[in-house]
Amino acid sequence: MLESNTVELRGVSKSFSTNGKVERVLNHINGTIENGSIVTILGPSGSGKSTILSMCNLLLTPDEGDVFIYGKEVRNWNIPELRQTVGIAFQAAPMIPGTVLDNLLLPASIHQMNIDHPEQFLEKVSLPESLLHKNVQDLSGGQRQRLGLARTLVNRPSILLLDEITSALDPSSVREIEHLILNLHKEENTTILWVTHDLDQARRVGTHSWLIVNGELVEHSPTESFFTTPKDDRTKQFLAKGM
Ligand code: ADP
Ligand code: MG
Repeated sequence: MLESNTVELRGVSKSFSTNGKVERVLNHINGTIENGSIVTILGPSGSGKSTILSMCNLLLTPDEGDVFIYGKEVRNWNIPELRQTVGIAFQAAPMIPGTVLDNLLLPASIHQMNIDHPEQFLEKVSLPESLLHKNVQDLSGGQRQRLGLARTLVNRPSILLLDEITSALDPSSVREIEHLILNLHKEENTTILWVTHDLDQARRVGTHSWLIVNGELVEHSPTESFFTTPKDDRTKQFLAKGM
């Protein structure tokens, strides 16, 4: 039964302590993500969305409960194998000084993989091959974002974690990135956890949607019913105000 879900969170809690003060940021999260779904994760700033993503590829470990990836507890995965299976992309893709190619091959060099035809990954994100030897400093914001995504794809992850990847882009670049990801999803059946603060985006791209408020998963439904017939009052409030 467990194996049918790609990602499963069971009773996941997490606290951080800052200056001796302990703050509980996730409180017994239970959620399952089916293979091939796109779950858009919404919630006010600071509600714990990025923390959830970080626990799916062991950037953080839960204090209580467990995250299962393909039925196996994340802490029992071999880290390089996990990071190849579960890719993550952020709003500001960190780049090393050098060329587009240097940056594209960074994960491959970490995992000592040989990549034939690295330009194929630029193509996947609609960047021209002619950029390969360009310095990353000379890329536009949209091009950097796409390069970050291309670099995440080099490992051919079957699960993608996207953390507000379009929030710094202009509307037409936002649509282009959405289009790229939806194509990838169609071609490879990638399972996607997509944190966004853009309600319209969450509705456009999601198959399912979650709302996190104060470290609690208050609503998880198919995207259409999440937006049209939310069950929880906090969801109704969130959708009305955008919070
Ligand atoms: P969101 O992505 O929903 O904006 P986060 O998951 O980033 O929220 O953060 C949830 C809460 O946890 C915030 O209050 C944040 O300040 C705190 N937090 C996140 N990471 C750390 C950390 N490494 N150390 C201390 N506090 C953290
Ligand atoms: Mg965040």
